[in-house]
Formats: sequence, structure tokens, C-alpha cells
Amino acid sequence: MADVIIIGGGPSGCAAALGLNRLGYRVVLCDQAKFPRDKVCGEFISPAADPILKRLGVLDRIEALSPKRLKGVAISSYEGEEIVIDYPQLPGMDARPTSLSVPRYELDANFMEQVKQVGVEVREQHKVTDFLFAEGLVNGVRGWDENKTSFTLKAPLVIDAGGRNALSFKKMDLKKESGGDTKIAMAAHWEGAKIADDYCYMHVSRPGYTGISSVGKDRANLVLVVNRQSMHGEKPDKFYMDTVMQNCHRRKILQDAECIESIRSIESLAFSVKPVTCGGLLLVGDAMGFIDPFTGEGIYLSLRSSEIAVEVADKAFKKSDWSNEVLKDYEVRRRQEFDKKFLLSRLFQKLIYSRFFCDRVVRALQRKPELAETLVGVIGDLSPAQTAVSFKFLLRLMSA
Ligand SMILES: Cc1cc2nc3c(=O)[nH]c(=O)nc-3n(C[C@H](O)[C@H](O)[C@H](O)COP(=O)(O)OP(=O)(O)OC[C@H]3O[C@@H](n4cnc5c(N)ncnc54)[C@H](O)[C@@H]3O)c2cc1C
Repeated sequence: MADVIIIGGGPSGCAAALGLNRLGYRVVLCDQAKFPRDKVCGEFISPAADPILKRLGVLDRIEALSPKRLKGVAISSYEGEEIVIDYPQLPGMDARPTSLSVPRYELDANFMEQVKQVGVEVREQHKVTDFLFAEGLVNGVRGWDENKTSFTLKAPLVIDAGGRNALSFKKMDLKKESGGDTKIAMAAHWEGAKIADDYCYMHVSRPGYTGISSVGKDRANLVLVVNRQSMHGEKPDKFYMDTVMQNCHRRKILQDAECIESIRSIESLAFSVKPVTCGGLLLVGDAMGFIDPFTGEGIYLSLRSSEIAVEVADKAFKKSDWSNEVLKDYEVRRRQEFDKKFLLSRLFQKLIYSRFFCDRVVRALQRKPELAETLVGVIGDLSPAQTAVSFKFLLRLMSA
């Protein structure tokens, strides 16, 4: 029998598997997909993820892909001037940090390879469809494999790393959609884009925003996020192309570029998740909640949530107690660490869809480079979110 069953082999599931494997636990990881598989994503990873990737033993693999390293963020508001902000060099750092920019198709496949290499039992094309319970605690899963043959697996702990459509949401009614308009994200890779420098280029203008960054080998990734209503029923391919080219900064970058694949899209972005009330189950990665990708830290939060989950799981195993009483420490710790970041993301959402505020903030950041660096340090998960989510910071920003 396994010690832990993990549902999902994205960054969070793989990070949990690697962490638990290192502590000597027997892990079975099920994913409904066959790897390599793709995913709609901005594809840049907060610089703060580097030490975690190193601890997990995957950084060398990723570096071997010759990924791009980005120096920070360039941002423009409603076709105004672009401002460029570097990640800050904080005390104790030898140099300014950079962020990895690598296609998810390759990143996730390499994560999965590492998981297999360390000896975790990986079951691809295994879709988990239900939880098993004993005395009110989750103690296993059931599902279907690639031949449509049913399987059951038992373990005292199940980690749901199933992402935005995690099984727990359906089975335990845990998902809380954020109010407001439904967002849709559309993404594709381009060749021949003229990207001036190694930054993630964020261009905010009606009807939404784009993130463009080089992912190496003359390829750039371009994600467009808009309110669904703004599409007026148009097909994603045409809408994406027309909208992208409406912005002067993007036109400059893409004038000689070619979109090399059909547009992939994903709906309804931000949501939060209610705490799990039973024992034997932990939720990591996007399954613990999702913030709009404007601030681009989903992968870091996924890795970090799995690190916390592994520590809490280890305590539960040492006590042979997988009850909610013991496991809820995970919920407390992840809230302490992430809640302010989620709040910052929600503030950004309000801000970018208002031209008045967006222009004002971008101008303020241009006038006060030290505030801009502080903010990008928080976005890059290098500094705690409270550095920017404070009355003092907001006052300085608004008076700049
Ligand atoms: C438009 C967009 C842009 C983004 N840009 C960025 C960015 O630039 N930088 C960044 O850091 N983050 C970004 N993110 C967020 C990032 O993609 C996620 O935070 C990250 O993928 C979460 O990883 P995960 O492992 O939790 O989930 P996932 O990567 O979604 O993996 C979940 C896995 O679970 C499997 N699964 C699901 N259900 C089951 C089941 N029942 N049985 C078996 N397997 C199952 C799936 O097949 C999948 O492989 C972006 C997200 C979006 C939508």
C-alpha cells in the first residue's frame, strides 16, 4: 500500500511527490494525461522559485533546456510609454535575480521525468473519479485507466494537485468563483518576434491585457486575457489576432512575427477554495485557489504550497494521525504565507481595467523607480506581499 496518493502531475503534484519521496514515503502519482502535455500559461516563473526547483532536484534539468532568463517586467498602460523594471537585488544576493521562461510542454515533462527517475510510481492516463472514505477520513481513490478499466488505490493521505478542475471541487463543493465578469485567456507561441530585451512585456489596453515573453529558440509566448463579453461571440483565433494587433507596442514586437500554432484558450480565471473539512486530504497548487495570472506567480505558489504540504504530511505520518485536526495546520500556514499576495492580485485586477488608475500607477512607478522595484520584488515573490500591501506603500504610490 502507498503512503500517499497524488492526483495530478503538474508542478504542484510533482513537487509534492519529489518532497515526499525524499523523506522516504511511498508515493503513487496519477495523472489523467499522457506526458508531455501542454497547458495555457504565461510560462515565466517567479525568480523565488529557483531555490525550490534546486531543492527538488529539477533546476539542472530545466537549465539544460537553455531557457530564457528574464530580468524583470516591462509594462505599459493603454498604449502609453513602456516602463522597464528590474527585479531588485536584495540583501544577501550576489546579483539581481532573474526568472525562468520556459514552455510548459517542456517544463512539466521534465518535472515528470524527475519524479519517475527518483522512483515514484507514476500512473499516466489514470483519471481519478472519486475518493474512498473510512471513518470520515479520505483513505484512497478510485478511477479509470487508459483501457477504461477501473482501479482503486488506498493510502492514509491523498493530495489533490488536480489544478483548476480538481476532483475535490466537484466531490466536496469547495470552489468559490470570484464574482464579476468571466475572463478568458488565449495563448499561442510566435516565431520572429522583435523583443527588445529579456523582460516579460505586459501591455494593458482595451479590452484586456497581454503578456509577451521570449521562451528561447526564437520563440515567444503571447497570452491575451479579456472579459468574455468583449468577444461578442467571435471565434478565439480571429479575436486574438485582431485584439493583439490593436496595440501599438505589440504591433512593433510582432510586425515580422508569425503565430506558429492555433490559439489555445481557457475560461474563468480567478477563484478561491473553501477549507477541506475531512481528514486524509490536502489540496495543493491551483487546487487551493487561483489568482488571475497578471502577476504571474501560479507556479511559484504551487511549488511553495507543496513544500508546506509535505512538512505537514510528514508531521501527520510521525503521529500516525491524518485527521483534519492535524492537517489543518497546512491551511493556516498557507493562508499566512499567501493571503496578502492574493489580495494584491485582486487589487491589480481592479486597477488594470480602469484606465484612470492604471495610467496613474504606471506614471507613479516611472517617477519613483524604488517603488517600482519594491512592487516587482513582491510580484516576483522575492519580498513579502505586505511590503506592497500596506497603507504606507499605497500612499507613497498615489502621491508620487
Ligand atoms: C492564462 C494563464 C497564464 C498563466 N501564466 C502563468 C505564468 O506566467 N507564471 C506562473 O507561474 N503561472 C502562471 N499561470 C498559473 C499556472 O499555470 C498554474 O498556477 C500552475 O499550472 C498550477 O500547477 P498545478 O500543478 O497546481 O496544476 P496543473 O498544472 O493544472 O496540473 C494539474 C494536473 O492534474 C491532472 N488532473 C486533474 N484532474 C485529474 C484527475 N481527476 N485525475 C487525474 N489527473 C488529474 C491534469 O491532467 C494536470 O496534469 C497561468 C495560468 C493561466 C490560466
